[in-house]
Amino acid sequence: MNPELTKSEIESWLRETDPVELEKLWQAADRIRRETVGNAVHLRGLLEISNYCRRSCAYCGLSRHNPSLARYRMTAEEILDAARQIAAFGYGTVVLQAGEDDGIEAAWLAEIIRTIKQSTPLAVTLSLGERSLDELRLWRQAGADRYLLRFETSDPELFRLIHPPVPGQTLSRIDLLRQLRSLGYEVGSGVMVGIPGQTYRSLAEDIDLFRRLDLDMIGAGPYIPHPHTPLGTGLLKPSVCPAEQVPNTEEMTYKVIALTRLVCPEANIPSTTALATINRESGRELGLQRGANIVMPNCTPPHYRQLYEIYPGKACINETAQACQSCLAQRIRSIGRTLGTGPGGRQHRTAVPNPQSDSDERSAPNQ
Ligand code: SAM
Repeated sequence: MNPELTKSEIESWLRETDPVELEKLWQAADRIRRETVGNAVHLRGLLEISNYCRRSCAYCGLSRHNPSLARYRMTAEEILDAARQIAAFGYGTVVLQAGEDDGIEAAWLAEIIRTIKQSTPLAVTLSLGERSLDELRLWRQAGADRYLLRFETSDPELFRLIHPPVPGQTLSRIDLLRQLRSLGYEVGSGVMVGIPGQTYRSLAEDIDLFRRLDLDMIGAGPYIPHPHTPLGTGLLKPSVCPAEQVPNTEEMTYKVIALTRLVCPEANIPSTTALATINRESGRELGLQRGANIVMPNCTPPHYRQLYEIYPGKACINETAQACQSCLAQRIRSIGRTLGTGPGGRQHRTAVPNPQSDSDERSAPNQ
């Protein structure tokens, strides 16, 4: 299989339904994963530190327009305790994720990042939405290593419809990804698969954009409708020819993971919780066998975890962090893979720019 797939070839793979052909895709992705990032599966301990959000995304249960959700923000002590537990589990990374919460004050979080970096060997990944360049710079200087910001879809019209901009916003998510790179973060992005209004052509464009952005981490999970959102209720119905609508299925998600591995061989690619949610039995394992090499066990304290309801029925919502650890270790070993050690960052990137300098601007993707 040609790793230099064109956009049209990517699209025709997305439309492929023949199981014999698809088996070739799974095998090619698994082989390239083995040859580039190896057999280790790196575990990133996920901490959902706040479910407050100032945005009104039409797909997400954390939207500020969802009045039925009780809101929480973890205290500094709770975050630090959980980070120490993540380090004690032997995971190499803590991921601090939240809605776009104005209550997460920049200096407060910088102090937490500094403390984690001084007191544990963890890499720190942030996933806090669209924050100002000053905040992103401060957190990088405090020691944050990576930033995750999915562009969700490369179709600008669909994106505006499902992710209404906030007043005064000047930078797009693609602009922010470039800025994050120039600040010296390892940069992750990704998409939801099967968003209403998403066409095969635009999903092929998404995968091509992963390649052009040369991302370090790429997450793709199925879109799961939330009943308290405009997209979930059908109140918002982006128009699209039914034959062009990408289904939000498990198989389509595996295709995206596999094709992403082919076009971005060195990237760290998670087998996501959303995938495990639509196939609790073996979704995680199949993701790992079709291109993925990362798992993000949920380490949020259980009483908060229930409230981080971006979509309903999330997998592993009631497990303790301890139970998750042994269940995942067993699942990973059962498919002949090993548990990664250390931070597990991208292996082959050579030049890491200085966080203080803005001089490593990359060329803009054609968005
Ligand atoms: N606020 C940050 C942001 O927007 O990047 C991080 C938190 S946000 C809840 C994390 C990711 O959840 C989003 O990038 C989106 O892809 C995913 N998500 C939200 N709603 C979803 C849904 N209904 N189905 C599947 N994934 C969803």
